[in-house]
Amino acid sequence: MDLSHFIQDTDNTASYDASPTMECSELEEFQSLSHLADEFSVLDCSLFPFCVLRDSDLRSEIYGFSRGTSLYEDRSLVRGNYVAGYILRELRIQSRKNTQTYPELCFIFDLPPELVFEIFEHLQPIDLYNLIRTSKGFRSLLLGPQARAVWRETFSRHPDIPSCPPDLSLPEWASLLFGPSTCDHCGCNEAMPDFSFRIRKCNNCLSTTLEDSEVENLPYFEDEHASQNDVLLTLIKRTHRYDAMAYPSSGQMYATRHCAKEAKSRAAEMKQFLVAIDSNQPSAQEAYGIFKAETASAVDNIMEHVQACNAWCFNFYNLLDDEFTERVSRTVERFSKLLGRMGYNPKDVEGARNDIHWTIYECCVRKHDSKAFRSCLPRLEIALEDAKWRRLSEEREELISQRKKEVNIIYKDCQRRIDPACWQHLPDSSHCYELDIISQYIDSHEQSATLDLDTAAQIILPFFDQWLAYGKRGLLELMSKHHIPSLSEENALDLATSVFICPLHSPEDFDHSVLLGWEDAAVHLECKTRRHYRDPQPTRPFPEPLLLQYSTTGRKAVLYLLGLLGMEASSSALDVEALEARFTCASCPPDSRPGTMKGRFAMKFKESVSHVVSRPDHSTDSFLLLSKEATESVVFHESSPRLEGELSWSCKHCSLHFESYVSRDSVTQHIQTIHAIPEPVQRVDFVYQRQKDPRRRSPHLIGLDVRRTYRCKKCPSLRSLRLWQLRRLLEHLDDEHDVSEPVENVDWYEIDIW
Ligand SMILES: [Zn+2]
Ligand SMILES: [Zn+2]
Ligand SMILES: [Zn+2]
Ligand SMILES: [Zn+2]
Ligand SMILES: [Zn+2]
Repeated sequence: MDLSHFIQDTDNTASYDASPTMECSELEEFQSLSHLADEFSVLDCSLFPFCVLRDSDLRSEIYGFSRGTSLYEDRSLVRGNYVAGYILRELRIQSRKNTQTYPELCFIFDLPPELVFEIFEHLQPIDLYNLIRTSKGFRSLLLGPQARAVWRETFSRHPDIPSCPPDLSLPEWASLLFGPSTCDHCGCNEAMPDFSFRIRKCNNCLSTTLEDSEVENLPYFEDEHASQNDVLLTLIKRTHRYDAMAYPSSGQMYATRHCAKEAKSRAAEMKQFLVAIDSNQPSAQEAYGIFKAETASAVDNIMEHVQACNAWCFNFYNLLDDEFTERVSRTVERFSKLLGRMGYNPKDVEGARNDIHWTIYECCVRKHDSKAFRSCLPRLEIALEDAKWRRLSEEREELISQRKKEVNIIYKDCQRRIDPACWQHLPDSSHCYELDIISQYIDSHEQSATLDLDTAAQIILPFFDQWLAYGKRGLLELMSKHHIPSLSEENALDLATSVFICPLHSPEDFDHSVLLGWEDAAVHLECKTRRHYRDPQPTRPFPEPLLLQYSTTGRKAVLYLLGLLGMEASSSALDVEALEARFTCASCPPDSRPGTMKGRFAMKFKESVSHVVSRPDHSTDSFLLLSKEATESVVFHESSPRLEGELSWSCKHCSLHFESYVSRDSVTQHIQTIHAIPEPVQRVDFVYQRQKDPRRRSPHLIGLDVRRTYRCKKCPSLRSLRLWQLRRLLEHLDDEHDVSEPVENVDWYEIDIW
């Protein structure tokens, strides 16, 4: 048989009818396939029309059109039937590797048809599909009954392609898999086949074709049969595709949709069974059970196949996605180089990298040529302008922060020059950024601007004095608002009765301490509200007003405690601090430590005041003063580190300890050796540097239920302060001092706690 007429045949439907070999039913079936019939005339131009196309054009020319409805606006990677496009491209790459090429293939068609079919058996199914699209001739040849074996053979040679469902012919299956992604309804090109319903619909048309399968919204069964809606969903085909161009990954089960027509007819079938059951017909229940099982199994088989098809397509999507991502990053590299050559600052090009990346995405750049670069250039230039602006502001910020660091160093140098007793009272160096020449220096646009120490010191040193005066004035104003009995302003702030609270370090919220007198309060002068911390405004030299509060409760508590101690109301805060006195609260129920006894904590003076201030239910006279003996013993038992050991001391004669404070012992040693003062005195030769967050100490618990109020008279003086339970003490006397029959007030004695 001469096959050449198949090739030269024009699109004349009469030839179908004239061909005695064509089996009508199959042809009709094939013609009824969606969007197959009207494509054939387009590309009937040469022997193998795909040969003249470049790889890059292949997908867009044959399978791709403009984009429309895809949900993936940022992805220009899939266009048209990307599965078919991908396979064709791979075939093309393979064929290039083949060194034996035949420019003229017409001789094939002089061969007997059996041989031609044998050759065709070596093609990919997609080749057969494309051949039937090239001409009437090929179509007639390959859809004829003698070609069935060819189709079967090509598919069996490519087991990776999902198997053809039993109710479709292989050409139909090939058409569904490899046909253009044209929407069955509106003709737009963003509709990959849906294998559940064997339709191609774009996102818009998909939503009008299929129904959402949310059980609560299903209208098929109502009232007592409402639960059958659930059953119905297992007896009809579903799709989990949420985008017309994409496929769900395996296991992705949300966004379920179904076909209303199918659901309606299935529901009608189910209703017949339900009617039979409702009218108590014999075996109706069993019959319904069998129907459900058989239908579900048939649907499950279909759905299993659908999943395999989805997974197959999903894989191509991923391959293209990976390729696309890689291609974009290569393009970013190339564009960056080109921009560098155009003279853009490399830092700006680097800074605009992200924008370059997105421009390439958004401009759907598919080739890396200079045309693509030119088309992107206006957007790239805007991105580079932004990057330049960002770079310049970063550089400016960097310069300003560098200058601030220099000012900080100068500020510290100035601090070293003043009395160490004031170091902790001065604010952070940011308070001086706004001062006259300092702000001029920081904000200067001259790269070469400088600030010398002496000039700056002329501003900073007076600022220190102004700051301390501002603090004192502020604290006195706070007191005067509460009509505190007038004392000479000179020493009003030194008194123990001048009780302040810093809201940021408050005894109520954070278990901090009240602030007694100037020395304590001055450390918190610069405490700012949280609002201030977030305030982008620069720090003002003197924030108004002070955040500190005066505490009248604290003042009353101080007066009461001073009364217990028999001290004057005008005692100074420093005198009170030096006291070795302990109090217990009589208002609180006894505290208990887990696993041990109940008792009361022995608190220091300031701790007692803080205790009252943080407990509004306490009256200010809730305290008992511990006896002298009990206090000695409590101090003996207190395990918490003492102030002396804290690294908070510094010499008052030099600035050696400015950067890191030392222990009291170290500072006295330093003064003895360096300043030759044999007996250094606190506040004259050295100072304690208070912190905003002083270290917490755990007070000693005095037992109430198990009394430990006995002392040994035989122990050496230092250990004699230890408190004992009586039983333990008697054992101790026997074991340690060999006193087997101890006598009260000779070998041991009891002390009074209060
Ligand atoms: Zn559509
Ligand atoms: Zn504070
Ligand atoms: Zn209490
Ligand atoms: Zn010194
Ligand atoms: Zn003893």
